Amino acid sequence: MRAMVLDAAWVPLELECRATPQPGPGELRLRVLACAVCRTDLHIVDGELPLPVLPIVPGHEIVGVVEALGAGVEGYAIGDRVGVPWLGHTCGCCAFCLDGHENLCDAPRFTGYHRDGGFASHVIAEAAFCLPLTLPEPEAARIAPLLCAGLIGWRSLKAAGDSTHARRLGLYGFGAAAHLITQVATAQGREVYAFTRPGDQKTQAFARSLGAVWAGDAHERPPELLDAAILFAPAGELVPTALRAVRKGGRVVCGGIHMSDIPSFAYRLLWEERSVVSVANLTRADAREFLDFAQAHPLQVHVKTYALTQANEALADLRAGRIEGAAVLVP
Ligand SMILES: [Zn+2]
Ligand SMILES: [Zn+2]
Repeated sequence: MRAMVLDAAWVPLELECRATPQPGPGELRLRVLACAVCRTDLHIVDGELPLPVLPIVPGHEIVGVVEALGAGVEGYAIGDRVGVPWLGHTCGCCAFCLDGHENLCDAPRFTGYHRDGGFASHVIAEAAFCLPLTLPEPEAARIAPLLCAGLIGWRSLKAAGDSTHARRLGLYGFGAAAHLITQVATAQGREVYAFTRPGDQKTQAFARSLGAVWAGDAHERPPELLDAAILFAPAGELVPTALRAVRKGGRVVCGGIHMSDIPSFAYRLLWEERSVVSVANLTRADAREFLDFAQAHPLQVHVKTYALTQANEALADLRAGRIEGAAVLVP
């Protein structure tokens, strides 16, 4: 098998040829059809998250086809198309796992961080954390971004409140997640206000084309006070900016795994029962709900595809904000 491997932080991924692994008990071996590139991969490669045990193969938005089954695997057959998300394993017995918050498990293993991920021709995944894919979209590259950008976006949208209480929704940072969640929110009858890097009119036009009722610079005041806002951009200064844009009782959801420091701000921005919350990881229930939604409401998934060996280029394009929609590696 071929894999793009992170051997040390702050150095480019290196192509390695390895023996194709055999799945252990409860595991599947997948041939990777596509793996989207997430901002979390960038945080890992750039050393902004605690370094995993290296070497590691990044990538946690994987669409693959089952090639081999480990002992005891039920419910999957050779040739099935499955998705592998960030949540690769949970302990199943901590207080969080037991009360339906497996996203907060005390001993999780994340794909592409603790387990080798999908920047590779093949991947081993725990079957219990794989997602059967029955979406009508034939192209794996257009499904891969649903598996993190879509899923984390979905969890963030739920955290923002239902479509009655969070009807006017701001999205800060218009990348892979926001381009999907704009369509989801619009289908739910919400109004989306899209905020981009200052002067990025191309992305603002992209947001409007996907259903946003307004698009502007991140530091602009929207024409209406928002009911809620989701921050997908990893920029802490947007927290007070978003608080200024939401109404009394409004909520600001931080959707990313890493963010630069939040500057101090006047208490009056938080007062009047505004709140700031974060979203961490996903549960398998989130995944099922979101994939069901995507099946019933096909989403336009905009991708820029790269060969596996172009993983460093894809990461560089994501870092520079050069991608409309999602970057996807197709081995
Ligand atoms: Zn991700
Ligand atoms: Zn647990």
